[in-house]
Amino acid sequence: MTSFPVAANHDHWWLTTEPRWKRLHAVPGIALDASDEDMLETLCEPPWPVLAAVCGWTGEMTMPGVLSRLSLQRCGHCCRKLGIKPGNGTPANEAHRETMAIVMTAMREAQDPRASAPVAGEEQDR
Ligand SMILES: [Zn+2]
Repeated sequence: MTSFPVAANHDHWWLTTEPRWKRLHAVPGIALDASDEDMLETLCEPPWPVLAAVCGWTGEMTMPGVLSRLSLQRCGHCCRKLGIKPGNGTPANEAHRETMAIVMTAMREAQDPRASAPVAGEEQDR
């Protein structure tokens, strides 16, 4: 369940925009060094790095939380540029989403508070 530029993510970061988490945009893997822990921290707290997405959108971006990585809508322009299908969640999560939906449904049915609790770093309707 990663936003990192792995092969399953078409060698792109999948990041979302600050301050509103509206879409997952594809950022070329070379834009950020995934082995640089200091850089990774800048993706998780302000000041946010200004990055250019494949679609041309440029602005402050952040690492999406786990639920956003699974469910946030991918930018259609980025998908077209990469030649992949539009959809929700990072491309690497395509295989995980069905499993996650089953888990979340089971947790809701069991009234597990984790099924409705906000995920750290992820607020509703930012
Ligand atoms: Zn985009």
